[in-house]
Amino acid sequence: MQNPNTLWIKHPLATLDAACAGGVVVQGNTIAELVPAGGTPAMAVDEVFDASGHVLLPGLINAHHHFYQTLTRAHPVALNKALFSWLVSLYPVWARLHPEMVEVSTQLALSELLLSGCTTASDHHYLFPAGLEDAIDIQMAQAHRLGVRVHLTRGSMSLGKEQGGLPPQSTVQSEDAILADSERLIRRYHDHGEGAMTRVALAPCSPFSVSTELMRASAGLAAHHGVQLHTHLAETHDETEFCLKMFGMRPVDYLESVGWLSNRVWLAHGIHFNDDEIIRLGKAGVGIAHCPSSNMLLASGQCPTLDLETAGCPIGIGVDGSASNDGSNMIMEVRQALLLQRLRYGAEKITHQKVIGWATRGSADCLGRNDIGEIAVGKQADLALFRLDDIQFAGAGDPLAALILCGAYRANEVMVAGRWRVRNRHIEGLDLERLKARQRELAAILR
Ligand SMILES: [Zn+2]
Repeated sequence: MQNPNTLWIKHPLATLDAACAGGVVVQGNTIAELVPAGGTPAMAVDEVFDASGHVLLPGLINAHHHFYQTLTRAHPVALNKALFSWLVSLYPVWARLHPEMVEVSTQLALSELLLSGCTTASDHHYLFPAGLEDAIDIQMAQAHRLGVRVHLTRGSMSLGKEQGGLPPQSTVQSEDAILADSERLIRRYHDHGEGAMTRVALAPCSPFSVSTELMRASAGLAAHHGVQLHTHLAETHDETEFCLKMFGMRPVDYLESVGWLSNRVWLAHGIHFNDDEIIRLGKAGVGIAHCPSSNMLLASGQCPTLDLETAGCPIGIGVDGSASNDGSNMIMEVRQALLLQRLRYGAEKITHQKVIGWATRGSADCLGRNDIGEIAVGKQADLALFRLDDIQFAGAGDPLAALILCGAYRANEVMVAGRWRVRNRHIEGLDLERLKARQRELAAILR
């Protein structure tokens, strides 16, 4: 068999790691060689991409999102509210989602992520009203179409208002239906292999929207199939109070009681932990998807990232749903993490390298992967390249720091598994104007 073509991404302006200062050679879907500063590849190359004007990063990995919420950005009913009242306002709106809305909003969110340098995206979809039973199948088809690597989680809600939960009854499902569909999706889409483009995880929405039995059964099913588990946890004080009232214990104790303190688990937000809980989470290796914009917008609080990391938790970064951000821009979210975390830990500890590390290796660890998130030989060729041509970079000194400090928002080139998906700021094969127009029409129906 003939060897796949080799491409040298030559002499980038800046990189995160010095080992690839002279660029990388991509062969097929993986990184075949790192070139030292000023050097040339040892292996023969078929093609060269001149990166002398680009900052080269490992592709960014989004650890938490709700794609469908791009349809309800800045929704009038949800403005200026904290989490619980924000949720109660939006649930009836989201209950009206239909299949085309999921299709278009998934395509839109994945496009927005790609254009911001994201190569792997996780999504947490937990709404399955009648007629929308195939929501995850629809999302999988869109991810395949755009060529983005995805970890789609099969979300769930089983505690409606009638059972003391928050969501309206029409948005919750029976536990049998949830578990049967979870199993179907794992069998159909979860690829355990190296370089997987699609993986499935199980994701009961939050302690206040599913039953104890479903939390336990999901953990059992995930262990049986070797897939990850995900949920929202410790996002607000309201949630702690809800858990104390409903279960007689704090969120982390509850998590432990249902068999979720494990390195199979990554949590969105993770804000309101005490010292003992941080130690237990770290010991178990539970991952935390830090969502700075959402936490600021909903006034939820600050994730104790460095304490969690020191304790042993992988820290990733997520844009969260676009009704609480309200964008899906990964490189801008990295800047938000730097700014918010500096308030807590100071300027010396929260460096630009640190936050880029969270958005790459950290998020990969949350998703249970070691084949993505860094530029190293044998890893997947997932890369994001940014030029510093826009006005906000004029006069910038350190190129890597400038990306974060001056506010980069759009990648010029993005590669997933060795294939260019974004060239010169455009997604290959996508009519973005048409997509935006349809998204606007569908969003208008939900207002
Ligand atoms: Zn979320």
